[in-house]
Amino acid sequence: MVMISDFLGTSAVENVKKALSAARENESFNALISLSETRALERAQKVDAGEITGRLAGVPFIAKDNFLTLGDTTTVASDFLKNFEAPIQATAIEKLETEGAICIGKANLDAFAHGGSTENSAFGPTKNAHDETRVAGGSSGGSAVVVALGIVPFALGTDTGGSIRQPASFNGVVGVKPTYGTVSRFGVVAMASSTDTIGVLSSTVDDAELVMDIMSGRDSRDMTTLPDFFAPKQESQTKRVAVIKEFMSDAVNPEVRKATEVYVEALKAQGVEVGEVSLPMLAYALPTYYIVVPAEISSNLARYDGVRYGARSPEASSLDEVYGLSREAGFMAENKRRIIIGSYVLSSGYFDAYYLKAQKARTLLINEFNKAFESYDFLIGPVAPDPAFKIGENSDDPVKMYMADIMTVPASLAGLPAVSIPAGATSEGLPVGVQIIGQRQSDAELLAFAKRSV
Ligand code: GLN
Repeated sequence: MVMISDFLGTSAVENVKKALSAARENESFNALISLSETRALERAQKVDAGEITGRLAGVPFIAKDNFLTLGDTTTVASDFLKNFEAPIQATAIEKLETEGAICIGKANLDAFAHGGSTENSAFGPTKNAHDETRVAGGSSGGSAVVVALGIVPFALGTDTGGSIRQPASFNGVVGVKPTYGTVSRFGVVAMASSTDTIGVLSSTVDDAELVMDIMSGRDSRDMTTLPDFFAPKQESQTKRVAVIKEFMSDAVNPEVRKATEVYVEALKAQGVEVGEVSLPMLAYALPTYYIVVPAEISSNLARYDGVRYGARSPEASSLDEVYGLSREAGFMAENKRRIIIGSYVLSSGYFDAYYLKAQKARTLLINEFNKAFESYDFLIGPVAPDPAFKIGENSDDPVKMYMADIMTVPASLAGLPAVSIPAGATSEGLPVGVQIIGQRQSDAELLAFAKRSV
């Protein structure tokens, strides 16, 4: 893997060329949807000429293909937007570019970020960086793999229910999902607006910290952004953490549990007090997520109608057909499944029974987290129940696929910051991560702690 410092103080043009050729050498992983060679080299020349300066001057990176970028397409890995060229850039990309970073391409994902394996992509599955027969995880699978392969020092991802943390765990890289509202969602294709977050995958926590420092802050174009609270810390003050009991159940792969245990022992050796906490509402987190999130998806995806964005079905001859046939062709099966579930739980006869009930369960889960944070600084557990599964293993069973999200969706529902860091142990010969969850806006301390403990 490579780090940001490997690209500082060297020729930006050489940096970009190096990253582009590493991307081409690793084509078999199918981690990338497009490369932005012309624009990237133009910007690199400006950096080398001293016209662009900043903390990331000349550092190449890759963005998940649900960030709107100038210079290439933004497909969201869907047929709908296969040829879509965005007229604007996401705020997160703008901020990185202002510091001199150079986006060299766009990473593969599950279409519209719906999934946990990067198999639901109209561009085919991304392969795990450590074993090409295994999934990359998802939905930010491409972003995790390009970091794990050392193509770039960091990549941007989005995490709505685990999409940064889980692929980070599956590929042995660092993944940071910040507090909801830390980074502007402006210019990022919406999935579920109440849990969507923008974050980073990198080889070190230090690099993730720098990127978060640059991207975070209030944006008048996203009214859910928080005033900038993220201030990197030199040293962690953390004294007490707890392992989440429900995350260490027998249903979790023993080697995955063991990885967390080994990490916990290392913490204890450093003088950190480690307790155990039980959050009974976690039993309802997955069903709650798979009601609330599809509801928001069904609303957010209504805009893809064949009129305003993306492809229009050439077979359509009436307005209804423009909508129906374009949506039929443009969405993948998993997108349609979520639109149908979402429309169902929001429909007048079922709203109270499903959507409203789920929102109440969500509040109870948040209350339980808050209570745990009265006694502990951070909560710890695995990221996913198993290491990266085989490509195709879960793809015809949506519920099995959803089960893999069981330990990442709770922090998303509660808007909490959570990181996945390599546990330093393997399962089935593959890397696995440890998840650390903090209270809202504890992001800087969370990263300081994560840094100290690896
Ligand atoms: N795997 C989860 C899902 O399918 C998370 C997706 C995400 O965070 N974008 O909903």
